[in-house]
Amino acid sequence: MPIAFDNTYARELKGAYVSVAPQGWAEPDLVLLNTAWAAHLGLDAEYLQSPEGVAMLSGHSAPATAQPIAQAYAGHQFGSFNPQLGDGRAYLLGEVVAPDGTRHDIHLKGSGRTPFSRGGDGRAVLGPVLREYLVSEAMAALGIPTTRALAACTTGDRVLRQHGLEPGAVLARSASSHLRVGTLQFFAARGQTDMVARVADYAIARHDPDLSGTEGRYLAFLSRVGARQAQLVAQWMGVGFVHGVMNTDNCTLSGETIDYGPCAFMDNYDPATVFSSIDHGGRYAYANQPGILLWNMSRLAEALLPLIDPDQDRAIALATEAVERMQDDNRAAWLSVFARKLGFEGTCPEGLVDDLHKMLEGQGVDFTRFFRLLPDAITGTPEPLKALFGTGEGLEDWLGLLTRALDKPDLAAERMRAVNPVYIPRNHLVERALEAASDHGDLNPFLSLLEHVQQPFTLREGSEVYADPAPKDAGPIVTFCGT
Ligand code: AMP
Ligand code: MG
Repeated sequence: MPIAFDNTYARELKGAYVSVAPQGWAEPDLVLLNTAWAAHLGLDAEYLQSPEGVAMLSGHSAPATAQPIAQAYAGHQFGSFNPQLGDGRAYLLGEVVAPDGTRHDIHLKGSGRTPFSRGGDGRAVLGPVLREYLVSEAMAALGIPTTRALAACTTGDRVLRQHGLEPGAVLARSASSHLRVGTLQFFAARGQTDMVARVADYAIARHDPDLSGTEGRYLAFLSRVGARQAQLVAQWMGVGFVHGVMNTDNCTLSGETIDYGPCAFMDNYDPATVFSSIDHGGRYAYANQPGILLWNMSRLAEALLPLIDPDQDRAIALATEAVERMQDDNRAAWLSVFARKLGFEGTCPEGLVDDLHKMLEGQGVDFTRFFRLLPDAITGTPEPLKALFGTGEGLEDWLGLLTRALDKPDLAAERMRAVNPVYIPRNHLVERALEAASDHGDLNPFLSLLEHVQQPFTLREGSEVYADPAPKDAGPIVTFCGT
C-alpha cells in the first residue's frame, strides 16, 4: 500500500521551502529497512521493499502523494551566522500520521542537489548514512529523543570523498518535525516578522498545540523549547554523547537529536572530549554542551523577540528572564539524569553529583563501564570498579557518601542496571562496522553491533567485545562534518 502522505508544511508554509524533483539514480537498492519503526509509523513494509517503495526511499522518484521540498533555514555555525543554509542534500517527502496519532516527517538525506546546495554535491555516502542509522537507533533505545532511521539505500554510483570514491547512499529518516532554531532565524534575519510568526505558529501547532492561539504563546513556546532541549542535552551528558556540531541549524524545536555527523560517545571521562576534525577550539566539547544550548536558546529568543512584545525593551526583558530560567532548568535536568544513574528514585544530594565529576576527572576511567560496575561496588564487590581508576583518589570517600545516601543498596543497584547501558556504539566498533560495509560490502559487523545497541541494558553472554573499551592501540577517533 503506497503511503498516504499529508503535506502540511508544504501547504501552510509557502515561502519556507523550494519544491524539488527527485533526480533519479543508476541503480537504487535497499540496504536496510527498519521494519519495527515502519510498523510503528503504520507504513507497509512490503510496499517499502517493492521497487516503487525503494525508488521512494532512495530518492530515485517520488509517489504522487508526496510533495518533495527542500526546507529553508539559516544558522549559527560555530558561532558565525550564515543567513542561508537549508536542505542542500535532503528533501522532505511529506508527513505521515502514525496509528498512535503522532505526526512524523519522512525525509531523505543524500538525495541530490537542491537550490540550497551552495558548493556541495548534494550527496551522502554509505558509511555516514549507516553511522546515522546506528547512532540514532542507539539513542532511541537509550530512551533519548531522536530522529529515527527508516531505511538506508545505495544509489548504484560512487561519490568522491576525502579518502576516494565511496558508495553513494541515502538515509530515509523520520522526525517529529525538521523545524530548527535556524528555520526561525532564516526569516528573522530578513526582517520577515510575518513569516517568523507563521513558522512559530506552525511549530506550536505541531509541538505545543495547547499553546495555539493563546496570548503570550511565543514566550511560552521559547520556554517549552528550552525545557525540551535541557532534558535532551542532560540525557546526552548521561551517556557521554558528544553531538559535535550543535549549530543552531542542528537544534530542533521538537527537542529531538538531529544530524548525526561528527558525533561520538566518549570512552574515558574527560570534560574536554571533542571528536570533530574542525572543532579546534573545543566549542562543542562534552562539558560545553549545556552552555552551548543556552547560547542557542538565546539565538531562538532573538528570532522571536518581535513576537514576544511590541515594546522591544519589554520583549528583551521577558526573553532574558526566560533564558536565565533555562540555566536552572539545565542544571536541574542534569542533576536528575545523574541522580537516576546513581540509583536514586528522585533527587539526590547535589554535592554527590558534583563530586562524582571531580573524582572522575584525570583518572582515565571508562565512563560507561564506571556506571555498570557501580551497582556491584555498592553491594559488596568494589574491586572491578576500583581497577578502572588510576590513583582512585577520593573514590573510597565518595562511595561511602553514595552508599549512606542510598536507602536500600540492593534496590538501588537494580535501578542503576536499568538505566546505565552496557552497550553503546563504541567508536572503534562503529568504525570497523562502517568500513566492512562500505569497503567490502559486508553488513554483518554492522548488524551485530546494531542488535547490541538496540538493547543497551541487557547483558549478553559472550558479548564482551561489544562492552569493552577500545584496545589501547586503537588510536584517537576523529569524526567529520558533511560526509
Ligand atoms: P550539516 O553540517 O550536515 O548539518 O550541514 C550544514 C549545511 O550544509 C546544510 O545546509 C546542509 O544541507 C549542507 N550540506 C552538507 N553536506 C552537503 C553536501 N554534500 N552537499 C550540499 N549541501 C551540503
Ligand atoms: Mg544539519
